[in-house]
Amino acid sequence: MNPVTTEEEHLCEECGKSLFGRSDKRFCNDGCRNAFNRKKRDAQREKETQDMPAVFRIIKNNYEILKRYELYTLEQGEKKFVRRYELEKQGFHFGYCTSANKVNSQDTWLYCFELGYLESGPSTVYLKYEEYKRR
Ligand SMILES: [Zn+2]
Repeated sequence: MNPVTTEEEHLCEECGKSLFGRSDKRFCNDGCRNAFNRKKRDAQREKETQDMPAVFRIIKNNYEILKRYELYTLEQGEKKFVRRYELEKQGFHFGYCTSANKVNSQDTWLYCFELGYLESGPSTVYLKYEEYKRR
């Protein structure tokens, strides 16, 4: 039979030892708290590193797709019209970019390096070429 305790027993989140007292106490001491937080930070950093290559791959893929439209042949200020599904069909991921330029309350051009895209409606996208120094 379990002994009856007046205080709630719970375990240190770091070392697993029993803790008695206030139920909001999570660690036996500062050493356990610091060790726990250090591991948590390391795990977060590790996850960020793992996620990063995927983001790079997506942006590179977007860039390769945009390059197919030969946007550098456009005149300065000229835009190319494409259907959203046409880009999606090629594996384009909207929202991924290396920079963004908000031009008015509705429109934000997103860039993969010097190649920009603007979602101008549910199925309409504009593309353009713009050198960094002009933005
Ligand atoms: Zn502990």
